[in-house]
Amino acid sequence: MDGSKVMVLPEGFRKLEPARRRNLLHEILFGESAAKGTTHEDFLSTGRDESLIELASLMVESSIGYAPIPLGIAHGFLIDGIHHEFPMATEEPSVIAAASYAARIIAKCGGFITSATDPVMVSQIFLEAVDEGGIARIRASVQLIMQEVQPFLGSLPARGGGFREMAVARLPETGLVRVDLLVDVRDAMGANILNSVAEGICPLIESISGGRRLMCILSNAATERRGRAGCVIPFDTLERISGSGFTGAEIARRISLATDLANEDPSRAVTHNKGVMNGISALALATFNDCRSIEAAAHAWAARSGSYRSLTSWKVDGRTLVGELELPLSFGAVGGAAAFHPASRLALRMLGNPGAMELARMAAALGLAQNFAALLALVTGGIQRGHMRYHAPRIAYQAGARGAEIESIASAMTALRNFSHSEAEILLANLRAGLALE
Ligand code: NAD
Repeated sequence: MDGSKVMVLPEGFRKLEPARRRNLLHEILFGESAAKGTTHEDFLSTGRDESLIELASLMVESSIGYAPIPLGIAHGFLIDGIHHEFPMATEEPSVIAAASYAARIIAKCGGFITSATDPVMVSQIFLEAVDEGGIARIRASVQLIMQEVQPFLGSLPARGGGFREMAVARLPETGLVRVDLLVDVRDAMGANILNSVAEGICPLIESISGGRRLMCILSNAATERRGRAGCVIPFDTLERISGSGFTGAEIARRISLATDLANEDPSRAVTHNKGVMNGISALALATFNDCRSIEAAAHAWAARSGSYRSLTSWKVDGRTLVGELELPLSFGAVGGAAAFHPASRLALRMLGNPGAMELARMAAALGLAQNFAALLALVTGGIQRGHMRYHAPRIAYQAGARGAEIESIASAMTALRNFSHSEAEILLANLRAGLALE
């Protein structure tokens, strides 16, 4: 690493006003204050909208603007008989196209059937120095704990949520005692609420048990809060859409075998599940949900048997391929940044302002669609042909193409099946010289 190129910010940068932080950063990076001179094109990408810059400074420390991740819409989902379009925020070129492609196919086969469990999250208190008598006393005090936890639950009981149950266990390796408080968080993701619950009730549990708190925090595992989606695709449909020369039965067999492969081989399962999360994470980001929590929970769920396996299941049933996906989905429709930021509010409006359980059902359908599109491509023509078609415009852009040039260069690269940067530069030079591209 070349130390002379590494950016060094002055002490106290984070305490400056947002506008001052931006000007100073521009000066450090480009040698001139943005306030005085022309703002560099790359820098403009972090904020042209003053109100969003201000909002960013309310949301994160030391903010310098916002990251303009592309936002698109995946079309044509039919979920439990209702038509849906999904806002998705992602940097990967083929993700939205793949989701829409799969959605259209599955809609013609009757669409997705979905369901969700109640939005129950787990608030955890970890205690040291609790003997067996202490564990017994905590268990015997559940009624008191339930009563004393009420003030920390805010409006949840009035909304139909609130405390559900308690579980106490000793962890075998550390000897720590874990107290789980299960709380129905309704339409919230629930992290802040549950952290307040754990911290608020901890002194009482310490005094009952005689133990000492190590930490209080929610569990992001969200195993109680799952979304599920299923679909059925007839062999005839598979044969018609693929154009690969495989019969529908063979495509179904190959997709089913691909799931068996992911179940057998964790190195393949990681990529398989990454494809599922392409859709779910993009929806989480578009709605300003906690993507890290949703992703961590999904991968932990995939490993719940002790081995990391496929999140989806694809099985042949008669002359159909049956797909299923079930996983923890702690989407919030209120609270945190969801429905707070205007971009999140817009995304939720596109979705019809769903509740958290509806969002979980939608996310499960989206994840299953994304997985179907990836597997169909992988076991028939291969994934790269379609992927590079969507990647080509960005190579053209990187080579310097702008406006209508981008599509011309991308089409020529696709026709030539050459997606190298140098080829894009040659094509661009030819285009600008008025020469034929192919
Ligand atoms: P929050 O603190 O904003 O609480 C939700 C609020 O929404 C509550 O005040 C509740 O009364 C209100 N509300 C209104 N209508 C509701 C309804 N129908 N159902 C439920 N509540 C309703 O948000 P939160 O969901 O507790 O926490 C989410 C945030 O916490 C996210 O931004 C996340 O990034 C952050 N966070 C995450 C972690 C983590 O480990 N994942 C840790 C800390 C914080």
